[in-house]
Amino acid sequence: MGILEVKNVGKRFGGLQALSNVNLSIAENTVHALIGPNGAGKSTLLNCLVGKLIPDTGSVMFDGQSVLGRTPYEINQMGISRVFQTPEIFGDLTVMENMMIPCLAKRDGVFKLNALRTLGRDAEIRDKAEQMLIDMNMIEKREMHSASMSRGDKRRLEIGMCLAQEPRLLLLDEPTAGMARADTNNTIDLLKQIKAERDITIAIIEHDMHVVFSLAERITVLAQGTPLVEDVPEKIKGHPKVREAYLGE
Ligand code: ADP
Ligand code: MG
Repeated sequence: MGILEVKNVGKRFGGLQALSNVNLSIAENTVHALIGPNGAGKSTLLNCLVGKLIPDTGSVMFDGQSVLGRTPYEINQMGISRVFQTPEIFGDLTVMENMMIPCLAKRDGVFKLNALRTLGRDAEIRDKAEQMLIDMNMIEKREMHSASMSRGDKRRLEIGMCLAQEPRLLLLDEPTAGMARADTNNTIDLLKQIKAERDITIAIIEHDMHVVFSLAERITVLAQGTPLVEDVPEKIKGHPKVREAYLGE
């Protein structure tokens, strides 16, 4: 039994069957990559896992509990945290202020923006946020205005903000999209470090094969809304069905 069990999931948008018969099992404490051509349904599937979309058919179980019918907030509280394709940080706030937000949300279960005014005086939250910034190797940037950071650093902060919620499953949708090579390599190193230091399962959608083969222990190839092949990276490399899916033959 995986920490995440997807069974027979289907999702239709009007006349388009975006997902059909999706079965996926993600083993606890592994890095599992989801790859496939543009439009294959990868993001749609991810959205079905976090409550942003409700599948038409099938089931999604996380740690033995159904996520279906729960709100994104409830699913997040269950232990699933998601990094979006574009960094979701508050550009007007400093790095430290941004990091305090998920720390507070984790402790108090809610977050109100006006809490920010008194947040700096909350020693417990400050300490936790500082520790997270140390873990993310960005403590020296704590007073920096978030909007002025590089794309790589924004992504690093955002991943840290997800981790501050102490998820058991971290989902990433193309975390290196639009990044320069150096930032991509830093992101690979960061995810390796996170995996080594924490009890966490990572599911990553990624089109950059260098990232996929640097991180993944298992790979599922999605094509036209259905898993085509699932295997260890060595078996996926050069797999005729995978080449076919990408070349659209
Ligand atoms: P991927 O992430 O693999 O590139 P997506 O899951 O984003 O693919 O999209 C799968 C298919 O579903 C695409 O054809 C896309 O245009 C379509 N699609 C995605 N979201 C919606 C939506 N909200 N409404 C209508 N069609 C959508
Ligand atoms: Mg996508």
